[in-house]
Amino acid sequence: MKIITLSSGTWGANCYILVSGGKALVVDPSLPVETVKKHLAGEGARLVGIVLTHGHFDHTLSLDELREACGAPVMIHAEDDELLSDSGKNCSKMFYMSCTHQCADKLLADGGVIRLGDEEIKIIHTPGHTKGSICLLAGGMLLTGDTLFADGFGRIDFYGGSLSEMKQSLLSLSKLDPDITIYPGHGENSSLGAVLGRIRFLNR
Ligand SMILES: [Zn+2]
Ligand SMILES: [Zn+2]
Repeated sequence: MKIITLSSGTWGANCYILVSGGKALVVDPSLPVETVKKHLAGEGARLVGIVLTHGHFDHTLSLDELREACGAPVMIHAEDDELLSDSGKNCSKMFYMSCTHQCADKLLADGGVIRLGDEEIKIIHTPGHTKGSICLLAGGMLLTGDTLFADGFGRIDFYGGSLSEMKQSLLSLSKLDPDITIYPGHGENSSLGAVLGRIRFLNR
């Protein structure tokens, strides 16, 4: 599976395009739809789905346009679907904006699988940043949204956030291969083992 990183949309969120067998998934459409379409065309890939790691507005900036342009189904964990239509819960109101979207076409659950070409992407539910945050495991790549960054875990003080749930989520990620590369919702890649090794409560 190939991954294309489109870094730092207007609000600093990364957008990823996963490509396999002529098909593509866009994860967190935070960049202009024209940029995304240019990369899809460059790969000769057809967009078959839009996956959201969670419902915060900075990860969904071009969601409606992309959905309309490509007709691909939008997928989010069931517990974050309510964020899409609520500018308070998706944090846009905090920045004096009102970003709202229709609800998703398909709700995801822990342990579920998204097929892309001949390959599979596994859904890992990792609440803590939001109730419905997910990580996506695709081969040796882990797309972590705002659950985990190169310099630590995501904020737990927004709507639905929870430190105890974040701890449990990080503990479950710590059972994965430490050599996995993380592709976070903001900032640079890192290795899972290196990042988790720096989080104190996991290493006592
Ligand atoms: Zn977030
Ligand atoms: Zn974010």
